[in-house]
Amino acid sequence: MLSKALLKSFNDQINHELSSSYLYLSMAAYAESQNLPGFANWLKIQTKEETEHGMKLYKFINERGGRVELQKIEQPPMEFKSPTALFEEVLKHERKITVLINKLYELALEEKDYAAQVLLHGYISEQVEEEASATSILETLKMAGEKGHALIMMDRQLARRGQN
Ligand code: MG
Repeated sequence: MLSKALLKSFNDQINHELSSSYLYLSMAAYAESQNLPGFANWLKIQTKEETEHGMKLYKFINERGGRVELQKIEQPPMEFKSPTALFEEVLKHERKITVLINKLYELALEEKDYAAQVLLHGYISEQVEEEASATSILETLKMAGEKGHALIMMDRQLARRGQN
């Protein structure tokens, strides 16, 4: 059985993951509106991954005899100043998720819940990757700029995600 505190935090985390999924879908819609199909591709894959993160927690709660409680998902922002501003938001968001995952892990340590700790190891590693990829794209956008050729090249690069 999960402790009451862990059950609540895992349910909260399902909401954070599904809210992330919704945020990235809104970002994808912005990219489509800007005629940036590669950016939209990258963001839609991100959406799918976040839903999977949420579903893994859903499965874990059920396996541990807990009750999944879905919470309200806020409306995500619809407009972004530029593709660079969008990736600044991605990075900011992933850093926020990292803090939440770390807090969840601290709770699992306090509660001596070893199974929860093992599950969370995957999430901790995932956050390192999430922050690294967002940082890398953001740095390239800042370096190359987001006008004309540079933006088209970046869009082509992001179009390749999920193709190999
Ligand atoms: Mg996630």
